[in-house]
Amino acid sequence: MHETTVCSFCMKDKDTSGFISAEYISIGIHPWYVTTEDIDRQTEWIKQTARNDRRVIAIGECGTDKLCDTDMTLQTEAFHNCIAISEELKLPLIIHSVKTSNEIIRLKSSINPVQPWIIHGFRGKPELAMQYIRNGFFLSFGKSYNPESLKTSPTERILFETDEYTGNISDIITHAADTLNISTDELDNIVSENAKYLFFNR
Ligand SMILES: [Zn+2]
Repeated sequence: MHETTVCSFCMKDKDTSGFISAEYISIGIHPWYVTTEDIDRQTEWIKQTARNDRRVIAIGECGTDKLCDTDMTLQTEAFHNCIAISEELKLPLIIHSVKTSNEIIRLKSSINPVQPWIIHGFRGKPELAMQYIRNGFFLSFGKSYNPESLKTSPTERILFETDEYTGNISDIITHAADTLNISTDELDNIVSENAKYLFFNR
């Protein structure tokens, strides 16, 4: 199995060994970690880092989360800033969405971005998966998800992630291949192609 690890970071992580040693990175303004005091600084950091650090292959996590304490107007502003950078620097967008799928789908329809939008840690029902797929989104599945949602998603639109799960990505892919009733090698190839298309062929 060929593995390429993409790790996602915020400005607050920039001096950590995880950030420094990562091979490929995604950087964003996470809705959990933005304040009115640092939104401009974070936006500027992402712009500069995305321009100058060749490891950057995506913008995110960014998005909106109705269950966190951050003011929704501020979350939305941070999200818009990340979308603008994604479009300007031609980098795909990795989205954190909790109970905001309608808003995100509407936003994509109204902005009509050129860059791919990827929903990370998708755990929704098949109906929502289809809604996202019809609107051109990619879905990234983690350790736990609704198996029917995975089955209903076209394989050229799916990715896998470990996120908080401490195990190996191959465990997740093996389990998913089982759900899809295809071989692990086949799924591994599909996902590698998807990742190549999204992050490395641009
Ligand atoms: Zn997230």
